[in-house]
Order: sequence, then structure tokens, then C-alpha cells
Amino acid sequence: MALSGIQILKMLPKKNCGECGIPTCLAFAMKVAAGQQEIGECPYVSEAVKEQIGEASAPPIRTIKIGGGENVFTMGGETCLYRHEKRFENGTGIGVLVTTEMAEADVTGRIERFNTLRYERVGVLMKADLIAVKDAKNDEATFVALTKQVLDGAADAKLVLISDSAAHLAAAAKACGERKPLLFGATAANAAEMAAAAKECGCALGVKGVNLDDTIAVAEKLLADGLKDLVLDTGARTIRGALEDNLVARKAAVTKKFKPLGFPVITFPCEMTTDPLLEAMISSVLIAKYAAIVILSDLQGDILFPLLLERLNLYTDPQRPMVVQEDVYSLNGPDENSPVLITCNFSLTYFIVSGEIEGSKVPSWLLIKDTEGLSVLTAWAAGKFGADMIAAFIKKAGIADKVKHRELIIPGYLASMKGELEEELAGWTITIGPREAGHLPAFLKEWKPAA
Ligand code: SF4
Repeated sequence: MALSGIQILKMLPKKNCGECGIPTCLAFAMKVAAGQQEIGECPYVSEAVKEQIGEASAPPIRTIKIGGGENVFTMGGETCLYRHEKRFENGTGIGVLVTTEMAEADVTGRIERFNTLRYERVGVLMKADLIAVKDAKNDEATFVALTKQVLDGAADAKLVLISDSAAHLAAAAKACGERKPLLFGATAANAAEMAAAAKECGCALGVKGVNLDDTIAVAEKLLADGLKDLVLDTGARTIRGALEDNLVARKAAVTKKFKPLGFPVITFPCEMTTDPLLEAMISSVLIAKYAAIVILSDLQGDILFPLLLERLNLYTDPQRPMVVQEDVYSLNGPDENSPVLITCNFSLTYFIVSGEIEGSKVPSWLLIKDTEGLSVLTAWAAGKFGADMIAAFIKKAGIADKVKHRELIIPGYLASMKGELEEELAGWTITIGPREAGHLPAFLKEWKPAA
């Protein structure tokens, strides 16, 4: 049962010292109740209180990590049904299946594509996260050997180990060392052995249900056995079945706090069809509706990229603009005679503008001013991109030491600022750039420093 802010406040030391980063205990308690702050950020609460509040204020979908050290995949931690209610927390993990029955070339091809299909967009590296290793021959030695091959071949892959044998899973998990895999999967028949293997290896355990009711029954058994980190597979192998189960599970966990379904969900589009395009469509639906992991039969750029992009869009916090760091960016190898442009730090603006400049092949300096993620006109209207601020930033950024000329190109939408900026920035000529980034290449190719 979730605690209210007032209930949490009663358990705090009420020093109002601000060491948690929040000025008062009351404000801190409200944030903990809303799931925006961790109770552990107050250094004065006892372990017993931490446990009591931590348990009560935990998200309805448990946060689970697999991997180790810096190379960790986090799933779950979700608190809402719809992104606009708050935000979705941890993006769906995209994985690829390799099995002990596959030909060597098929395995190495999948590992190679896992390593090479990587894309950067708005400053974010987008790639697959997981490799699922399946003990299809039910043979421990080949399963462990394939696990080692994946560990060696894909240094940053997080592993899902799939076998019907708890002993085989334990042996392969030991080969993973600190790269803790997800073990999959426990059924009604083998739950006790699987639970023992998961405890022994310190790994999260996947529940492999036959249907939703069976999944709940197995999860209840494992919870009673003391396991805390579970991942659920309801056994659905049709798009309709998987979608319905995901919706029911999320709703039961979030609105009814139904514990046996309060875990991330793993799905297997690779087992739902043999048509790659249909598999992509199914994966897209499941990414949108609550899958914490989707396992694909293969990785191909034309299918992976749209799925990664969908994930990026869904799991971007709608209340927080994406920003790039305030800095001086050198594009195309600029020198002391290169043009100097300035714009805001809204990441979409940065990537559109920098993309056009790079495409023009004109060596340029691009100055990015922190506008708290607001776009050019919005930032100007909000008083975050005024002439005085731009002038102060130009002086602080040290661009005057990098170029011989003193000419600054401002976005066309800020044309009205020219006079004021020239007053603030003595000795500089202010040139009004194009309004649209698409016109930058032609503008830059014609540009010459003001005499
Ligand atoms: S650190 Fe603890 S005692 Fe200090 S203000 Fe925050 S909640 Fe209150």
C-alpha cells in the first residue's frame, strides 16, 4: 500500500537541513510519495525506515537490472499506463536469439550485426541491448560454449539464457561471471529448481507461463520462495494474445497493485511468425504496449532502426526537453577564418543546424548557448536567449581566441536583436542568418568575413 507524503513525513527526522537536495522534510516527503525522490537520499533515516518506506513507495512494476558494472540493462520501474500521465522509465530492451542448433555462420552473423548496427541520433546511441542464448539441444556443454562465444563476441551484450534445465542455466550463468544474465524460464513443474539456480547465481529469473493464470501461479510460488527479481512471459505467441496479456498485467500491477504481475514482461516476436516484416510489426506493437524485452529472430538494419526510433520516441520524457551541452562545436575542421554561428541548445535544433552545416562541407564554428532546451524563438520570448546573455556567452566561450574576424551569425528569427547585440558585443558585426536551417549551406558557401 503506497504511503502518503504526510505518512512519510512522520517517519523523517524533520531537521529541515536540505542535505537531501530539497529544502524541507515536507517537500522531500511529498517527492518520495510521488516517486520522484528516493528515501535513501536523506542521510538521517534508519535502515528500518528505509526498508519500510522503500517497499511502500516502490514502483508497481519492479525495477530489475541484468548485466554488471557499467554494462547494465535496466527494465521495469514503470508507474503509469500512459506516457502522458508521467513518463515511461526504462526503454524496451531489444534482443536477438541465437540457439545451439544454429549453424556457426548464423550465430557469428547475429553477433556481428549486434556489434555493428548502431546509430546515433540527437546525441543518443541507439542499438540492440541483449542476446538471448537458447539451449535448443538440451546439452549443457554446447549451451555453455555458445554462452561463452556470445560473451566474448559481444562485449556489451546483456544475456538472456534460455533452457528447460536449471542445472544448464546455472552452469552457463557461472560462465557469465559478473555479467549477470536473466535466467529463463521457470514453469509450474520446475519452479523450485529454477528458484534455487537463480538464488545460487544471484540472477533475475524469467517465468515461463502457459497462459496468464499459470504465469500468476508460478510467480506467486517464486515470490513465496523468496525470489524478488522476476520477469514474466505469459506464454502468448500471437500478437493479440501478447497484447491482451500485456495490457491486463500492466493494469493489474499499476491500478490494483497486484504483486504477481508487478514485474517486467519479456516477449518473443521471434516465435510468433516466420515473416520478418510481420515480426517487426509485432515487435513495434509490443514496444508500444509494455514489453520490457522483445527478442527478435535476427537483426537487420531496415527493421532494427525503426524499432529503435520508436523506443526513443516513447521513452523520452515528454516533460523534459532534450538538450545538448552548451559549448563551441567545430564542424568540418574550422580555422581562424571560418564563420561563427550561434543557436540554442534544444537538441533537435542543434542536430538540424549541425547536420546542414556538415552537409555544406563549409568549416564552421557553431556556438550552442544553454537555453534550457527551448527552441530559438521560445527561448527569446522566455528571456533565455536575449542579447545580454548571448554577449556574455560569446565572451565566456573564448571564440574570439579561435577566429581572426569578429562576425557572429545569428538565427534569422532573431533579426530584431541585431542592434541590441552589436551594442552589447562591442567590436563584433552581427549578421542575420537564414530563418530556415535548410538555407544554411547556400548561405555559408557565399559567406565572407565582414570587411
Ligand atoms: S536530509 Fe532528511 S532531514 Fe534533511 S531536509 Fe532532507 S529529509 Fe529532512
